[in-house]
Amino acid sequence: MGKASRDKRDIYYRKAKEEGWRARSAFKLLQIDEEFNIFDGVKRVVDLCAAPGSWSQVLSRKLYLPAKRSSDSKDGDVPLIVAIDLQPMAPIEGVIQVQGDITNARTAEVVIRHFDGCKADLVVCDGAPDVTGLHDMDEFVQSQLILAGLTIVTHVLKEGGKFIAKIFRGKDTSLLYCQLKLFFPIVTFAKPKSSRNSSIDCSSGWLEGPNKVYIPFLACGDLNGYDSDRSYPLPKDAQGSYRSLDPVQPPIAPPYKRALEMKKASSQGITELEKLSLES
Ligand code: SAM
Repeated sequence: MGKASRDKRDIYYRKAKEEGWRARSAFKLLQIDEEFNIFDGVKRVVDLCAAPGSWSQVLSRKLYLPAKRSSDSKDGDVPLIVAIDLQPMAPIEGVIQVQGDITNARTAEVVIRHFDGCKADLVVCDGAPDVTGLHDMDEFVQSQLILAGLTIVTHVLKEGGKFIAKIFRGKDTSLLYCQLKLFFPIVTFAKPKSSRNSSIDCSSGWLEGPNKVYIPFLACGDLNGYDSDRSYPLPKDAQGSYRSLDPVQPPIAPPYKRALEMKKASSQGITELEKLSLES
């Protein structure tokens, strides 16, 4: 990652903490909304791969909380938000959490049950596999996650509904575009300004030969907002040094928890075997 991307990432981390977002990815969804008004008329929404929950926070703040605060809203008017992830996440007001795998067919049934058999107006999916660093492999696993999301979408999204998914740019992007075009009349690839330059999520690609297809590509995010091609100084305190902020919501059961426990135990000279006998 270059310096400009690192600086921009740090700015968004800080801004996310100041505004109470659990992750800076919140800005991606907000910038997509600025461009496409994705929340217009939305009453039921599904957040696939939601942990640690910044997109769910956006959904709660944009849809649930305003409707709840509105004095004349009845219970039936308050939007329903269902969030799914393999990992548990800390509660968010107005968000129903389901711990589950989006590649499992039963997940769609659980969502439909929460919506009382009705369909969703919007499905968002920010799924990312554990990245291996082998780009082709990561891109493939990521595209499988989107296809799993799309399978759920075909069951839970109403006709005319919207599907927002993070994709990794790569040579299969245009194949994905064609697959999505089978289900949606309009497919747009967009890169929110808050996503890193070095990040491989976003944009365009093409098939070769007669299948060649050019994909509409749109940059989104306020032109006055942070620009991924510039670097910014981090804000300093009165003493002239940068003060870091604590995370808004640390993960409650991160996959690396076990590794940390093992590292701690080994630094204390406790072997895994001894630890197990201590625990039993
Ligand atoms: N949108 C989230 C936010 O704003 O806080 C960040 C999502 S994070 C980039 C990717 C998430 O995908 C991880 O929490 C991971 O557990 C989840 N994930 C990956 N594979 C999944 C699967 N098969 N089913 C459900 N969640 C999955």
